[in-house]
Amino acid sequence: MSKLIDTEKAILMESIRDIHDFPKPGIVFKDITTLLNNPKAFRILMNHLTNRYLNYDLDFIAGIDARGFIFGAALADRLGIGFVPVRKKGKLPYTTVAEKYTLEYGFDEVEVHIDAFGKNGLCPTGERSKVLLVDDLIATGGTAKAAANLIEKVGARCVECCFIMELMFLGGREGFESEVYSVLEI
Ligand code: AMP
Repeated sequence: MSKLIDTEKAILMESIRDIHDFPKPGIVFKDITTLLNNPKAFRILMNHLTNRYLNYDLDFIAGIDARGFIFGAALADRLGIGFVPVRKKGKLPYTTVAEKYTLEYGFDEVEVHIDAFGKNGLCPTGERSKVLLVDDLIATGGTAKAAANLIEKVGARCVECCFIMELMFLGGREGFESEVYSVLEI
């Protein structure tokens, strides 16, 4: 299993920009666009994720709308496996399964195509498809828990949830059925 050395971790940390009071007052938004346009940082990150997941024998990567698509799709291509978008409600064209989750005010919903991980979530061997869930950041964990539930709901197995960054003080990793891995902890 690959481990990031301190200098690599520092390069990643420095490549992520803090935007204060976005999208509303009091929030410090972690802007990963400055990691994406930094080829050295992006390469360090993708090499690390590829080495970590090379021997997990995964069938699919699922990425959360929208920044999870970028890292998830790049990783799926490197591992030679399929990519599945977990989208906000109303964006997917075929038959979907949905999962609601609560926000500070009200609720939101994520969806996947019913057959995204194979019919009934099974791979051609008849076993449940093994899925890695990817997103850029875990805060309260609500979005990722809903997405992980969704993977199980369609019959596949969420083996791990992977985040580029974790806001530790919010305790979002508590209560996941699957393993949780964060590249950077804040
Ligand atoms: P949560 O459901 O609270 O874990 O929120 C996670 C989702 O919201 C992820 O898709 C993140 O991209 C986004 N998010 C939440 N807080 C932040 C933040 N401080 N900076 C950047 N993205 C955030």
